[in-house]
Amino acid sequence: METIVTWLVVVGIILFFVLPYIRKTKQNAQLSLQTKERSKQLGADKPTVQHPQINLSLCIGCGTCVRKCPEGTVLGLVGGKSTIINGANCKGHGRCEASCPVGAITIGLGDTSKRTDIPFVDANQQTSIAGIYIAGELGGFALIRNAVNQGKAIIKQLKPPLPKTPDLFDVIIIGGGPAGIAAALGAIENQLSYLLIDQQGIGGTVRQYPREKLVLTDLVELPLYGKLTRSEYAKEELIQLWETIHDQYKLHSVLSKKLFNVVRQDDGVFDVRVTDINDPKMISRYKAQNIILALGRRGNEIALLKKIGIRFGAENDHDK
Ligand SMILES: Cc1cc2nc3c(=O)[nH]c(=O)nc-3n(C[C@H](O)[C@H](O)[C@H](O)COP(=O)(O)OP(=O)(O)OC[C@H]3O[C@@H](n4cnc5c(N)ncnc54)[C@H](O)[C@@H]3O)c2cc1C
Repeated sequence: METIVTWLVVVGIILFFVLPYIRKTKQNAQLSLQTKERSKQLGADKPTVQHPQINLSLCIGCGTCVRKCPEGTVLGLVGGKSTIINGANCKGHGRCEASCPVGAITIGLGDTSKRTDIPFVDANQQTSIAGIYIAGELGGFALIRNAVNQGKAIIKQLKPPLPKTPDLFDVIIIGGGPAGIAAALGAIENQLSYLLIDQQGIGGTVRQYPREKLVLTDLVELPLYGKLTRSEYAKEELIQLWETIHDQYKLHSVLSKKLFNVVRQDDGVFDVRVTDINDPKMISRYKAQNIILALGRRGNEIALLKKIGIRFGAENDHDK
C-alpha cells in the first residue's frame, strides 16, 4: 500500500510540477527563438553598443541574466543557453554580467577591428584624424555614466588654450547629450573657448525615450555642477536637469543646427559646417582647433563620420 502511495505522490509531482515546468521552458525557448528571428528581419538582432558576450561552455542556462535585464527582451534562453535575441535593445547596463552565478557573461564591444560601425579611437578617444575626438555612445559605449566620463576625459587632455583668436574656438563640441554637456562644462572649468552645437534641444537621446521612462544611472560627477544626487530619474526630470544646467552655467550653444561636414584646412584649423534645422538652405560655418563628436547613435552618424574621413575598425591608424 505504502509503495502505491509513494508512486502516486511521484506521479502527482511529475504531473503538477515537472511537466508544466518543462512545457513552460519549451514555450519560453520558442518565444525567444521567434523574437530572435523577428529582430533579425528588422535588423535589430545585433547590438550596436557594448553588450553581453556569453561563454556558452560556462552558461548553465539558469536564466538569471534574462530576468535581471532592465530593458526586457535583450536575452532569452534558446537551446538551454543564454542568447542575444534582441541586441538593439541592449543599453549596456551590465546587470546580466553582475547576476550570472557562473561568470559566463562579460560586457564589451567584442572584436572592434572587425566592426565597420565602430570608429577607431586611440586611448585618448582621438580618431584617425588628429584633433577630432569621439565621446559617448558614438564610440560604442552606451550609458550616461560612460558618456559623461568620456566627455570630461577628452577635455582634460586637450592642449592648454592657445592665445585667444576671435572666431577660432579651442574646441567645438557637436552633440548636446550627456557627453557633450560634460565636455562643455569641462571646457569652462579648464578655460577653453568652446561652442556646443546640437540639432535639437539640450539633453541628447533622453528626449527620444518613451514618456516617463525610468532612467537608471550610476552616481556620475559633472564638472562645475558636481555629483548627480540620484540614481533614478524619470525621462522628464532628466531633461529638466540638463536644461537647468545649460541655463545655470550659460553654456555657449547653438541649437537646432545640424552638422553636415568637418573639413581640415591647410593651416590645420577645422572648418565646421552646419545647416539650420528649420531652414536647411541656411548654412553656418565655425572654426576650431579641436572637435569633439558626441553625436550618439540614433541617426546617420556613421555615414557622417565616413564623409568626414574618419576610419573604422581595422583601419586603425592616425592620419600622417
Ligand atoms: C530607450 C533608451 C533607454 C535608455 N536608458 C538608459 C538608462 O536607463 N541609463 C543609462 O545610463 N543609459 C540609458 N540609455 C543610453 C543613454 O541614453 C545613452 O548612452 C546616452 O544618452 C549617450 O549619450 P551621448 O551624449 O553619447 O549621446 P546622446 O545622448 O545620443 O546625444 C547625442 C546628441 O547629438 C545630437 N546630434 C546627433 N547628430 C547630430 C548632428 N549631425 N548635428 C548636430 N547634433 C547632432 C543629437 O541631437 C543628440 O542630442 C538609454 C537609451 C535609450 C535609447
